[in-house]
Amino acid sequence: MNIILLGPPGAGKGTQARKLVDERTMVQLSTGDMLRAAKSSGTEMGLKVAAVMDAGELVTDEIVIGLIREQLELDNGASGYIFDGFPRTLAQADALGELLVGMGENLDCVIEMQVDDEALVARITARSTCGSCGEVYNDNTKPIPADEKCTNCGASDFQRRADDNEDSLRTRLMAYYKQTSPLVGYYYAKGDLKSVDGLASMDDVAASIKSALD
Ligand code: ADP
Ligand code: ZN
Repeated sequence: MNIILLGPPGAGKGTQARKLVDERTMVQLSTGDMLRAAKSSGTEMGLKVAAVMDAGELVTDEIVIGLIREQLELDNGASGYIFDGFPRTLAQADALGELLVGMGENLDCVIEMQVDDEALVARITARSTCGSCGEVYNDNTKPIPADEKCTNCGASDFQRRADDNEDSLRTRLMAYYKQTSPLVGYYYAKGDLKSVDGLASMDDVAASIKSALD
């Protein structure tokens, strides 16, 4: 089964993707994670995209489609992919369709995670992650433990993303509305779209995704 998690920044795509990976032995393909890895390892491409990402703008289609293509070749044979943060433009959506056809695979479902804008700003400006395992924390709803050790892996390396500030977030939201939200209509028209309420609790969102998939 291959699925896309679609939604604005802060909708909870990464959190739900991680849950699905644990429960279903699927593979998560997050272009945001791939780009951050390139950025922190200082590759030529990473250096090129760093400023664009920090400002909250979209990286070129050519770069992200290339990343996804490479990763699909490496993971070939996985029991299913969760695309998280990709596609973000119509050109990326078309490219993904072609890549899947080329592998003899289908797109089974696109899950749109709906969250209102106020909630996104509140979530993102309170967010930090474990630098070691990626566990997500939130100052209001899931604060970093008092002993400053990650509840998931025990590391003490909490990080805030360079683009999780109010200015970059507004740019990311604008990019979402201008470039990514047309994909909601695109996948609806193809008959692949299911929408879930992303404002519910983490477990309730997971339950709605499960019932959309089964
Ligand atoms: P979020 O969904 O919280 O904004 P991501 O981790 O998915 O975060 O993406 C972070 C940044 O990486 C984006 O703001 C953008 O600069 C870049 N990026 C990630 N995926 C894509 C993509 N598919 N196309 C273009 N840029 C991307
Ligand atoms: Zn951790």
